[in-house]
Amino acid sequence: MSDSPLSYAHDNHDRFLNELIELVSIPSVSTLPEHRPDMRRAARWLEDRLNDIGVSAETAGSEDYPLVYGEWLKAPGKPTVLVYGHYDVQPAEPLELWTTPPFQPQVRNGNLYGRGSSDDKGQTLTSIYAAESYLRTAGSLPLNVKFILEGQEESGGAVIKEFVQQHSDRLKADTVQISDGHMFGPGIPTLDVGLRGIVYTEIQARGASHDLHSGLYGGVAPNPLNALAWVISSLKGPDGHITIPGFYDSVQSVSDDVLQAWSRLPVDQVEFVKEETGISELAGEKDYTPFQRMWARPTLDVHGIAGGFVGEGAKTVIPAEATAKVSMRIVPDQKAEDVFRQYREAVLKLAPPGIELEVRLIHGDDPVLVPQDSSYIAAAQQAMQATFGRPGVPVRSGGSIPIVGIFKDQLGLNSVLMGWGLPDDNLHAPNEKFRVQNFYDGIDATIRFWDMAAGSTRASA
Ligand SMILES: [Zn+2]
Repeated sequence: MSDSPLSYAHDNHDRFLNELIELVSIPSVSTLPEHRPDMRRAARWLEDRLNDIGVSAETAGSEDYPLVYGEWLKAPGKPTVLVYGHYDVQPAEPLELWTTPPFQPQVRNGNLYGRGSSDDKGQTLTSIYAAESYLRTAGSLPLNVKFILEGQEESGGAVIKEFVQQHSDRLKADTVQISDGHMFGPGIPTLDVGLRGIVYTEIQARGASHDLHSGLYGGVAPNPLNALAWVISSLKGPDGHITIPGFYDSVQSVSDDVLQAWSRLPVDQVEFVKEETGISELAGEKDYTPFQRMWARPTLDVHGIAGGFVGEGAKTVIPAEATAKVSMRIVPDQKAEDVFRQYREAVLKLAPPGIELEVRLIHGDDPVLVPQDSSYIAAAQQAMQATFGRPGVPVRSGGSIPIVGIFKDQLGLNSVLMGWGLPDDNLHAPNEKFRVQNFYDGIDATIRFWDMAAGSTRASA
């Protein structure tokens, strides 16, 4: 009989892994309607597991994308942690590229292969097994825990957004804990302390009232494709500098502490990025290190240009219209709304004669910065130190996680982002995997995090 939560967790490693395999076997692909029954099965699986260990849980929100909500609130006077995870997964196609079938998970070389193993079923279960390890040994948790496990992360997240809006009282907590990310490398834990935001747009360019022959009208006809090329190349030069007036005004520089932590990472940043990507020479702002450029500097990219003729052979058309998808990753303290306004003005000013430009916002999210002086970040750092022998590297993530902003805006809560995946987990791709040791370490670190966070004074988040 194990007497401490940690030794209980270690004694149950095999069963935990087998249960994860069971959960990964359920093809809970949220975006495909034919998997709706699997969505309900996966939600019920989690609901049952929580209820079994003494966390009172229910499914809520939506028939098609059920949200699992559970709570254990028997630690009066102690802080409350709101644990977020998601059980829905990306489609597994193309199936022929998987070594073993995506929903018949298999352990090979210390990794569990299967769709959702890392994103985010394996990571979600670390918190549930941390809770079990406490409840089956001490009979209680060191603090109050609320679980909010969504089934629509990979396809919009409208259900959780509405749930958070409608149940802000019930979701009251002192901090949010999210494990839906990755460590820097094996044995190198990471704390995400900032997330870039995004402004995703579409530019439509219109010229003549209909397509024209370039032999007849070339020289007088305005060309929407040329115009888009001009606009796009005017917005950002080969040096990575964005020319939109006022764009950098509210960009916050990174603190020396954080910069030092990044430079202490045991990698050559240039070589590291080259190896991960196959890039021959890194682009962008030379005055900033690659990690600064990826995590803490704004950028602008074109995702696609449509219009004119792209078939085989030649067609001498001057198209009447063309469109481009352009997005900007933005950083603290830029605001999506302001950036879009500055961008729109700059684009419209660049319109060549005879070209009418229309600029539309597709979606926007503000960047998030997690204050580092919180007692919960300190608790997470202690937990990482005890588990991995080193504190978490305070990285900023290049991507955005909208739920972090929702918890901040609707509940006033900051998030502790401790991810247990690895950069090469093949998220959203064939052969997704989760390193089994990371699964176990994630459980240990969560057990320790709650223990340390229990000593945090309430409302100091
Ligand atoms: Zn995820």
